[in-house]
Amino acid sequence: MKLIQPALLLLSLSVGPAPALAQEKVLNLYSARHYQTDEALYANFTRQTGIRINRIEGKEDELLERIKNEGANSPADVFITVDAARLAQADALGLFAPVKSRLLEERIPDHLRTLDWFSFSTRARVIIHNKAMVNAADVQNYEDLAGPKMKGRICVRSGSHPYNLSLGSALIHHLGEQKTEEWARGLVANFARTPKGGDTDQIKAVAAGECDVSISNTYYIVRLMRSDKADDRKTMEKIGVVWPNQKSFGTHINISGGGMLKTAPHKDAAVKFLEYLASDEAQAYFANGNNEWPVVKGAVTKNPELESLGKFKADTLNVGTLSKNTAQAQKIFDRAGWR
Ligand code: FE
Repeated sequence: MKLIQPALLLLSLSVGPAPALAQEKVLNLYSARHYQTDEALYANFTRQTGIRINRIEGKEDELLERIKNEGANSPADVFITVDAARLAQADALGLFAPVKSRLLEERIPDHLRTLDWFSFSTRARVIIHNKAMVNAADVQNYEDLAGPKMKGRICVRSGSHPYNLSLGSALIHHLGEQKTEEWARGLVANFARTPKGGDTDQIKAVAAGECDVSISNTYYIVRLMRSDKADDRKTMEKIGVVWPNQKSFGTHINISGGGMLKTAPHKDAAVKFLEYLASDEAQAYFANGNNEWPVVKGAVTKNPELESLGKFKADTLNVGTLSKNTAQAQKIFDRAGWR
């Protein structure tokens, strides 16, 4: 009996949620990204560094609430999520600690980071149209969606969704509040139906002829292109994709990103993890796994469908600035009736 007891003891420590040991290498990651392909991204980090990741997944608002409530005792080391406005919200709550990392500064372009948080991938918010029904020349700019030609032809998800609020925020920056409100009113006047569903639902509605034009994030488009369901691929054959505003401020892009929490118990591991997300390998995971673009120049990707979308001029508005107008965008969309 005495001989096997130590073995049993070891076993019981190595499985299950053992209390944190002094030298245990762990990282507590609060993640509002819900992409299955991220699993490989995290497993690779553990393989490289020996740092185990405890992942707490949840909706972004719930996670933020949780971090706030946990206060100084929060086990959270890193918070990652999608959408610049959500990261800015966490930042405004004072949850992030500034991270000084030469590697992050060198690898992530200026406009895709702030002092407190970093973008690791980008997605563009593009115009999609039914190729049989709409001439691409008529929908070259976000502004075109509010024009008289599009009467009764637009479907789009809720104006309260962060993806649209971030777009609205960018429009306020470039066009001003008044023009953005006129745009929102014109857009609402052109609706084919009351906003419902997510971006994928709009793409399918456009292909099915329920409406002719919509707005979508690019990774939803590529996901359907790469789908193993024949129906999804057929859907995409009917869809034309336009890079909006190539002759003006460029196509609105949004990000996924993250930052280290002020109360992080494992600060070294947190910085290592953020730096890992900017490594060539992790950058390739974003592109290949979730059909987003790497933020690091020269990161090699293998995603023919994503590449088939081609190159475009992206709006280079700083992600920190981008989120400043979100609350105003919500007010404008509310007044315009974009529910
Ligand atoms: Fe999404």
